[in-house]
Amino acid sequence: LPRVGVLALQGDVREHLKALESLGVPVVAVKKPAELNEVDGLVIPGGESTVIDKLARMYGVAEVLKAKIAEGFPVYGSCAGMIMLANTIADPTKNLKGEPQQSFGGIDMVVRRNAFGRQVDSFEVDLTIKGLDTLPSQDPAHAAEPVRAAFIRAPWVESVGDSVEVLATIPAENTPRSADGVRMARIVAVRSGNLLATSFHPEVSGERRIHELFIQMIRGDA
Ligand code: GLN
Repeated sequence: LPRVGVLALQGDVREHLKALESLGVPVVAVKKPAELNEVDGLVIPGGESTVIDKLARMYGVAEVLKAKIAEGFPVYGSCAGMIMLANTIADPTKNLKGEPQQSFGGIDMVVRRNAFGRQVDSFEVDLTIKGLDTLPSQDPAHAAEPVRAAFIRAPWVESVGDSVEVLATIPAENTPRSADGVRMARIVAVRSGNLLATSFHPEVSGERRIHELFIQMIRGDA
């Protein structure tokens, strides 16, 4: 069984550890760079991407993780974790010195933080996600049920490069209007090689299939 780490610098670390444990894999809360070498894959939780960025650079995790990502290390990022996996942040926050927040990168995409607007702080919606039909837990005679997806000050993906597979989009009716009054469907789940990212939090709604998919990716079965 693969050992799966959860990056434990800030955010909803416990919920991800619980989700993974319920799927029967050994889990590790990862804080130090060396601990990255003891796991076969890593989950970056939701939280606050500016804080995760700052702590990851301070503790030397960022440098090691970037190198591992470049070598194909499997990583799943949820919400703030998705932001950390984006090659480009559309609207990075700047610190007092004027330096923009950084991501680990790895996925050729542009993400927009807090894209659903503060007035819609939090909502849940059922989404169809590609790639769940072939999971071990799925009865092959039926199509996979939609995923209950919790959006909490979530980012969305504004654009992706050719190397990125879109796994889910949220319908226009669930997105806020742009300045010119238009609503658009938006990308909220992607995969690029061994990297997986979702705008939403599957771990808070009792959903386990995104973590199951990630474990299959680590095993080389998905
Ligand atoms: N808005 C947060 C950020 O920019 C992400 C929110 C979340 O992870 N729930 O990091």
